[in-house]
Amino acid sequence: MTTETTSITIPSELLPADGRFGCGPSKVRPSAVDALAAAGRTYLGTSHRQATVRSMVGRLREGLTELFGLPDGYEVALGNGGTTVLWDALTFGLIERRSQHLTFGEFSSKFATCARQAPHLDDPEVIEAPVGSAPTPIAREGIDVYALTHNETSTGVAATPTRPDGATADALVAVDATSAAGGLRFDPHQVDAYYFAPQKCLASDGGLWLAALSPVAIERIERIAASDRWIPASLDLATALDNSRKNQTYNTPSLATVLLAVEQVEWILANGGLEWAAGRCDTSAATIYEWADAGELTTPFVSDPALRSHVVATIDVDERVDATVVAATLRANGIVDTEPYRKLGRNQLRVALFPAIDPADVVALTRCIDHVIDHVIDATD
Ligand SMILES: *Cc1c(COP(=O)(O)O)cnc(C)c1O
Repeated sequence: MTTETTSITIPSELLPADGRFGCGPSKVRPSAVDALAAAGRTYLGTSHRQATVRSMVGRLREGLTELFGLPDGYEVALGNGGTTVLWDALTFGLIERRSQHLTFGEFSSKFATCARQAPHLDDPEVIEAPVGSAPTPIAREGIDVYALTHNETSTGVAATPTRPDGATADALVAVDATSAAGGLRFDPHQVDAYYFAPQKCLASDGGLWLAALSPVAIERIERIAASDRWIPASLDLATALDNSRKNQTYNTPSLATVLLAVEQVEWILANGGLEWAAGRCDTSAATIYEWADAGELTTPFVSDPALRSHVVATIDVDERVDATVVAATLRANGIVDTEPYRKLGRNQLRVALFPAIDPADVVALTRCIDHVIDHVIDATD
């Protein structure tokens, strides 16, 4: 394997217009940043309890309702702390007794761990599949939350959320859609809590969680909150829901994050909605997987084409080439964050294909990788 330096210069005509291909925080569109700057004096630095900010939160909640085509009775809630904090909140306020978790990578495992460690819950059922594949939920008596992941960001596997066949009407389907929401299609009738953070497909910044909640999920949240279970105030979903209904958060949010998310949601809606955004990701995915399939030294890591994510591509690199050298060389040339998920430990590149990323830049990226690989190989011959 090569361990050459990163002194290769990629010809400027090959470079993408924007070199950000990371999976989160991910590319924020420059025009969204301009909009933030333009709102600087009237929006930033003003109270989140007043109309200026509350109307921005309202636009985010309404925009997401439209983007997902949420059925009547679904509500968008939000709070601080990102997805990781929401897992704790769900552990306190959504799981009644026992959850089932489908784990197939780093992120999907984390929520399972939260539930396992909670003293007030029964041990969860965990259905695991090897990295690069995805498990299927199994309806089971006594399971009150089925915990799925729309897109496993650590491996590049996407699994469209579906209610398990035969699940009882009061069992909830909770979906971690952190890297999927706004870029992948789904049927909202199949989910009760579709939750995410805005630093991925929503091209904003981290630190916020958002969740589309079905009426059954809302009923569950309110019932558990009214029970004698102890719930820390900052993790109380009923409190978050109360505040969300007033277009506020329980404590102070990052106003910039909210505005950037609104810019992205409204940009997608103006262009044709989720179908348009997902189509853009389809185009980028076709580019990168066809390129990886055709290349002598590259292969899509996910062998089943139906499971290959259209928002996060993982590409294995032949052992004759050190992928860390490729990623470092790209980085030295302004193309950043193509390193694989660290704990996966593969000779791999990982590339975000989120809606903000121009499909033409994905084409450019493949040419740049080819250029780098050719030169790394030459250096070893
Ligand atoms: C990024 C990511 C998370 C973690 O999100 P935070 O906002 O950093 O907590 C969780 N799940 C998935 C699928 C992710 O991609």
